[in-house]
Amino acid sequence: MSIETRPSTSSGAQCEQCGRFMKSEESLKKHGKTHDEAHRNLECTTCQKRYHSAELLRKHQIVHNVPKKSIECEKCDKKYSSKTALSKHMRTHDTAKRWGVF
Ligand SMILES: [Zn+2]
Ligand SMILES: [Zn+2]
Ligand SMILES: [Zn+2]
Repeated sequence: MSIETRPSTSSGAQCEQCGRFMKSEESLKKHGKTHDEAHRNLECTTCQKRYHSAELLRKHQIVHNVPKKSIECEKCDKKYSSKTALSKHMRTHDTAKRWGVF
C-alpha cells in the first residue's frame, strides 16, 4: 500500500484511499462510504479479517485452504483435499488387505 498524502492545495478534497479528487468535503464523505461498503464485502468469511483488495483477501484465504487440503491418510501419509477423496483412497488399502489375506 502506498498512500501519498499530498497537501490539498487545490480546491476540493482528495480521498486518502483511492486518490480521487472530490468537489467538496461533503462529497468526499459520501465517496468515503463507498470504500467502507467495499471493505465490508472484502471480509474473510472464515476469520472475519478485512482486506483492502480482493487480491489480498484471496491470498489470505489460502491460509484457510491449506489445512483442508491436507487430510492425511493414516496408513500411507498421502494427502487429500476432501474426505470424499480420502475415503475413495482408503478403499485401495482395503483392497490391498484383502489381496494380502488372499
Ligand atoms: Zn476513494
Ligand atoms: Zn481468514
Ligand atoms: Zn493411504
